[in-house]
Order: sequence, then structure tokens, then C-alpha cells
Amino acid sequence: MYPASFEYHAPGTVQEALSLLGKLGDDAKLLAGGHSLIPMMKLRLAQPKHVIDLRKVPNLAGVKQDGNTIVVGAMTTHWQVESAPVLREKLPIVSDTAGVIGDPAVRNVGTIGGSLAHADPAADMPATAIAVGFEFVCEGAKGKRTVKVDDWFQGLMATAVKEDEILVEIRIPTWPAGSGGAYLKFPHPASRFAVVGAAAMITLDGKGVCTKAGVGITGAGTKAVRAKGVEAGLAGKTLDQATIEAAAQKAAEGVDVQADLQGSVEYKSHLCRVFARRAIEAAVKRAKG
Ligand SMILES: Cc1cc2nc3c(=O)[nH]c(=O)nc-3n(C[C@H](O)[C@H](O)[C@H](O)COP(=O)(O)OP(=O)(O)OC[C@H]3O[C@@H](n4cnc5c(N)ncnc54)[C@H](O)[C@@H]3O)c2cc1C
Repeated sequence: MYPASFEYHAPGTVQEALSLLGKLGDDAKLLAGGHSLIPMMKLRLAQPKHVIDLRKVPNLAGVKQDGNTIVVGAMTTHWQVESAPVLREKLPIVSDTAGVIGDPAVRNVGTIGGSLAHADPAADMPATAIAVGFEFVCEGAKGKRTVKVDDWFQGLMATAVKEDEILVEIRIPTWPAGSGGAYLKFPHPASRFAVVGAAAMITLDGKGVCTKAGVGITGAGTKAVRAKGVEAGLAGKTLDQATIEAAAQKAAEGVDVQADLQGSVEYKSHLCRVFARRAIEAAVKRAKG
């Protein structure tokens, strides 16, 4: 299958890319790893007249620590996220999530920024972004602005990045000592996308009481969501098995669960509860060291 014809642009700086976006408006699409955009163009679900390739723009990829924040460039590939020592040490949930995206071919080319800007409802990183509390730095002609994760995912493949902006970096807060996190999914057997995925971040105090909890669910609905009922069921409590089970029962609340070829609403709601429980259990294990 071939995409409709388009004009290809390869800007050398963010400024050049922004000026192209400003000039071409709705007719243009940014290209990162191309692992979502190109299939959509081949299926003619997207027919941009102009494609602006970000791969020649320097300084958009890389992982570095800035105090209590890990800064990840938008063009950092899933493999680079998976293998970055600072993430593996401080936030292994993020490395693990990147490591279960697609297959090696996808992870070597697809980017964290492309995934989070595309916001496929079955993508993995959105659940972890919610649980951990990512922030998104968007650059436009007038400068940069930062968007918190709770304002980022706005609907089916819709995020807070504007058409004349570029997502340039993702800022990931480290969590205090006594914290642990895990992302687990029920993968589609062919694509490995999440039929349902759940991410949990937990902080325990010295007595085993949960002082902070973040839980995100992906795959089941039209966008990834924060499982507020689950978080409320964990915070302030000693996380014994009964408490975890009871909290996880609320995992499908607030999710607009969609029936599709992979399962009914009932089945996917069940998967939300099961995978939330498993992710919390794994997070607690890590938090306890
Ligand atoms: C076979 C296959 C299996 C896959 N399996 C999984 C899976 O299991 N889990 C999973 O999560 N994903 C999966 N993916 C998707 C993969 O993770 C893609 O890499 C990702 O969705 C898009 O990233 P990209 O860098 O390829 O972006 P692109 O395809 O280049 O772009 C995607 C969209 O984001 C926009 N965009 C890209 N970068 C920016 C930016 N910096 N600022 C603003 N907008 C931007 C583009 O304009 C486009 O609309 C799979 C893909 C394939 C082909």
C-alpha cells in the first residue's frame, strides 16, 4: 500500500520545524519514528500534504537527570528509554514499559514523544505517564509551556499539544525512597498493543502505610485514564491483600470501556481489575525492596 503523495521537509532546527508548521498549518504532520503515522498514511486514514521529519533536528533525543526530574527528549526511541541507566535505577517502571512496546523493530525506531503525542488508546506508556506523573514540554512560536499529565490525554488520539507546537521533552519526577512501580498488560497476540494495561506507583512509609499512589489504565477505553477510585482505596492504608483487592475492584470506574474484536465491556472491565491488582502487588513488592 502506498500513501497519497506528499511533500517531504527535513528541518535542521526546532525553529525551522515550527516555522514550517506555522506556514503549512493543518496540511502538515510531524514525523518522528513513523511507526504510527506511516501505517495511517498507507491506509489513507491520514493524508497530510506535507510531512515534517524531526529526525534531523539535533538535541531532541536523550535521557538526563535534572535534580529530582528525569528529562527525556521527545525523539528518544523506546529502546533508548528502556536501556537508559538513570531510568533503570530511579524509575524502572518507565524502562519496563518501554521494553514491552511492540517488538525490537518497533522499539528501535518508535519514539516516546511520538507515542505520547499520538495517544493510541492501546499504547503502553500513557498508563505509566499517569501513574508516575509525567509533564510534557511543548514548544511553539511564542516559546515553551508545560502540561501536566492529567491535562494531556484529551480523547481518542487527542492530546494537549497544539497543531502549531512540537512536543520537545518529557519531564519525569523521581519518587521518594520507599517507592516502587510496575506496568503490566494483557498484550494483543499479534501487535503486542495493550488489550488492557495497568501501571501502579506506590510509596510506603516505614510502617508499610501507603503515603502516595498513582494508578493509570490503558487499552480499555478511548484514552488512558487515572484510576482515581483505586488510588483513593490505597492512600493512607496498610497495603495488605484485602486492601489491594478492594482497591483494584474500582479499576474500571471512570474508564469508557469499549467493546471491540478483543473483548466485551464486561471482559475488558474484568481485565482492568485483574491487571490493576497485579500491578499494585508488583509495585508494593518493589517499594519494599
Ligand atoms: C507493529 C507495531 C506494533 C506496535 N506495538 C505497540 C505496543 O505494543 N505498544 C505501544 O504503545 N505502541 C505500539 N506501537 C506504536 C509505536 O509505539 C509507535 O512508535 C508510536 O505509537 C508512535 O511513535 P513514532 O515515533 O513512531 O511516531 P510517528 O508515527 O512518527 O508519529 C505519531 C503521531 O505523533 C505526532 N508526533 C510525533 N512526534 C511528535 C512531537 N514530537 N510533537 C508533536 N507531535 C508529534 C505525529 O505527527 C503523528 O501524528 C506499535 C507499532 C507498530 C507498527
